[in-house]
Amino acid sequence: MKFDYLKDLLKERFLDEKIDRLQYAYDATQKIYLPDCVVLPKTTQEVSRILSFANQNKVPVVAKGCASGFSGGALNVAGGIALSMELMNNILEIDLDNLIATVEPGVVNYDLQLALKPHGLFFPPDPSSWKFSSIGGNIAENAGGPKAVKYGVTKDWVLGLEVVLADGSIINVGSKNVKDVAGYNLAQLFIGSEGTLCVITKALLKLHPLAQASQTMQATFNDMELAAKTVSDIIKNKIIPSSLEFVDHQAILTVENSMKAGLPTDADAILIIEVEGSVFQIKEDLEKIEQICIKNGARVKIAHSIEEEESIWLARRSISPTLKRIADGKLNEDIVVPRSKIAEMIKKTQEIAKKYSVMIVNFGHAGDGNIHTNIMYNTKDKDEEEMAFKAMDEVFNECLKLGGSISGEHGIGITKQDYLERQVGKRTVELYKQIKLTFDPNNILNPHKMKL
Ligand SMILES: Cc1cc2nc3c(=O)[nH]c(=O)nc-3n(C[C@H](O)[C@H](O)[C@H](O)COP(=O)(O)OP(=O)(O)OC[C@H]3O[C@@H](n4cnc5c(N)ncnc54)[C@H](O)[C@@H]3O)c2cc1C
Repeated sequence: MKFDYLKDLLKERFLDEKIDRLQYAYDATQKIYLPDCVVLPKTTQEVSRILSFANQNKVPVVAKGCASGFSGGALNVAGGIALSMELMNNILEIDLDNLIATVEPGVVNYDLQLALKPHGLFFPPDPSSWKFSSIGGNIAENAGGPKAVKYGVTKDWVLGLEVVLADGSIINVGSKNVKDVAGYNLAQLFIGSEGTLCVITKALLKLHPLAQASQTMQATFNDMELAAKTVSDIIKNKIIPSSLEFVDHQAILTVENSMKAGLPTDADAILIIEVEGSVFQIKEDLEKIEQICIKNGARVKIAHSIEEEESIWLARRSISPTLKRIADGKLNEDIVVPRSKIAEMIKKTQEIAKKYSVMIVNFGHAGDGNIHTNIMYNTKDKDEEEMAFKAMDEVFNECLKLGGSISGEHGIGITKQDYLERQVGKRTVELYKQIKLTFDPNNILNPHKMKL
């Protein structure tokens, strides 16, 4: 039988019953593709043998973390093997002398944070999905989170990787050294490669000391442009908040209609701003930010307790879940524009929403220009669905005209692959194909993603 070798190798960690395969057939896109079998390796050697077998038999292999991806990266679109990394979930070392953690790829981001906290440390990449996304998935997607405005994204915090290549060979790239310029920087090539070039089996992660204190404020604006100007003004004043999030008018209405959280429904935008540092520093930063917000016409609310802080963050965190109540179809985009272009981009999305008669809800990471543009539609109405896709196409065009990118953190996968060339150009896509061929001549690693 086709997979006998894997069955013998992994025993009860080889699954081919339909009910088991179904559990590994989806991700957050809600699309479903059944793998032919699921394997759950526990060691790098096992991953190596699995890939070597797949390469010899030209069977597709899709690495899977927690399947929280929004671009279809973890889907077995061509069947084959679902390679779940969930059992490789050990934190191998927390090196307090060098502030480096060595982890297996299946470690859930939040579990790492919990392990680091008693040491007064944290791993800065903090995707909103941190409680249900793996370090391997974070690295493969180059994930970012609310703290990216201050600390950057995953690529800024990975020093080295152990990976298995398509032919089963195991290599180490990068090292514990802060400085290491020996050879090409393959670690950075693998970060964000969406499982198409290698399978990550170990990662060396830089750690950062936890801040002494943090505080959150909410600023409510009657004009989106003034909210966007406030973002630029804060940065211009050389204050880098640890989070700088925004919620647009439609998102405020959506949350308020669903859960009556006491949000200002007359507002055009809300900024949620968190600063962290020493007690002295955050007091100084908050005062300056408050002045900037008030100067730009905002009403300001500063949280003085954990409960008040939670209630401010509630609005931001509730958007995704409440969107599901509006319509069952959602094109969940994560465009990025230069910070100074946020207001212009939001205005464009409002015009596009009107033109195609669809609802567009915007929220996201204002501090780094990353806007979650959600185009809502009813999946049973084919005309509405067509309009939603046309609206998305135009959103991408407008974003690129403003010097933006079609994806800030969710990756290309299958959902955005038809638009990739529009951003990066034909020659660059050709180079991607040559790189892919060098690492994976039989195209077994996550085929049909990123137009590869
Ligand atoms: C509610 C919600 C909120 C989110 N918020 C954010 C956010 O704030 N920021 C953000 O960046 N993303 C966010 N995401 C998207 C998603 O959580 C991230 O892309 C995350 O990094 C995926 O991790 P995962 O373990 O679920 O990976 P999966 O979805 O399982 O896989 C994602 C990709 O990584 C590859 N991969 C996984 N493990 C490996 C490995 N060991 N080696 C090689 N390739 C591998 C897969 O093949 C696939 O291409 C959010 C998703 C949801 C559902």
